Amino acid sequence: MIPRHEMTLTDKPYKIDEKNYERYPVTNQAFATVSYKDTGDIGLYLSLNKMMDTMISKMQKGVEGRKQENNALDMGANSLNLILGNYGKPNSQLLKWQPLFTPEMMQKNKVNYKPEKLSEMVKEAAFLYGADLIGITDLNPKWVFSQDMVKPYVIKETDKPRETEGEFVIPKSMNKAIVMSVAMNDEMTKASPSVKASVTTAIGYSRMGITAVALAEYIRGLGYNAIPAMNDTALSIPLAVDAGLGQLGRLGILITPEYGPNVRLFKVITDMPLENDKPIDFGVVEFCKNCYLCAESCPSGAISFEEPTFEPACDNNNPGVEKWPIKSEECLRFWQENGASCSNCIAACPFIEGYKSTMCIECEDCRTRCVLQTNTFMRKKYGYLDVKQWGGESKVLYPRRKGL
Ligand code: SF4
Ligand code: SF4
Repeated sequence: MIPRHEMTLTDKPYKIDEKNYERYPVTNQAFATVSYKDTGDIGLYLSLNKMMDTMISKMQKGVEGRKQENNALDMGANSLNLILGNYGKPNSQLLKWQPLFTPEMMQKNKVNYKPEKLSEMVKEAAFLYGADLIGITDLNPKWVFSQDMVKPYVIKETDKPRETEGEFVIPKSMNKAIVMSVAMNDEMTKASPSVKASVTTAIGYSRMGITAVALAEYIRGLGYNAIPAMNDTALSIPLAVDAGLGQLGRLGILITPEYGPNVRLFKVITDMPLENDKPIDFGVVEFCKNCYLCAESCPSGAISFEEPTFEPACDNNNPGVEKWPIKSEECLRFWQENGASCSNCIAACPFIEGYKSTMCIECEDCRTRCVLQTNTFMRKKYGYLDVKQWGGESKVLYPRRKGL
């Protein structure tokens, strides 16, 4: 078992420059900025049209791995995502902020247990509905988007979450986030930048939609408010860090102890009184400072080779938090050129292996502090290495979930 209890921190594992930090608008995301540059229209995913054009063109040319059957597999995998919530369109489709089917009597009758018991119940249900990792944290208003494509998100004294003509309104009392991840298939991710990697990404989105919708409806059935959210409403990565799911790596996404960066993140926001989990530190930042594999394998040069910084690398970054900034537009431009999404950085990350990567036989005496040595040290420190002598078989976690 991963000794998570040995990794917990009392403080948040990141630094914020309060003077420079402002809530982030969805309109600054590369999907939105590239959409506008390409079409002159306001839209979040218009930027993917060019990616689809390349997909069709490669398919027509009969490029290996880009045939009709490859793309059809991707379309099928993505269908539930599009039906349930379209990557995260707030208060729409099945991501409605109001109950879908729960009888009014249940909505009005709050199940009255202690936070400890309610947290257990919620985690059990989330696992049942398909989550692989779950953590609970306070909803830090800093992480709530300042606005969606056209309307602001506001946090107010009110009893129900709702959308008005001009705003998305989150009640102040909805101050808890249940943050979850679903693991993607590591063999398929490693096929990036081929369509196969897109398929496991799409399955991840579909699975996250199902789980978010189901968990929100469960919470409403227990008498509390719930907002199911995929990529929308709030930044998933800092919420996941706060909830103890993992740490932010050089590649700009969350790295979990169990599945490395090979996960998709989502959340349910609620007013149910719940017990918080603690953030964790399992050496990711220390490790990333000596490892450049993601940056080296990025075809668009979007990932930094430098030290973490408060400075943004482009207009898509939010200043005010120390991290490795990503040039997101460059990343998305590669997707357009590739004709499919890309996961090269995730595939390259040694943490995806569940700490299986080859050990150097000299590690114990070696003084070079090479990346491999750091990796081996971290594995030993956190209990992944159950061997009598160096070079033996390490304990391995195999994230192998392929389907829904
Ligand atoms: S998804 Fe691909 S292009 Fe984007 S940052 Fe990762 S490796 Fe680079
Ligand atoms: S590939 Fe290396 S540098 Fe990049 S996120 Fe993974 S551990 Fe960090």
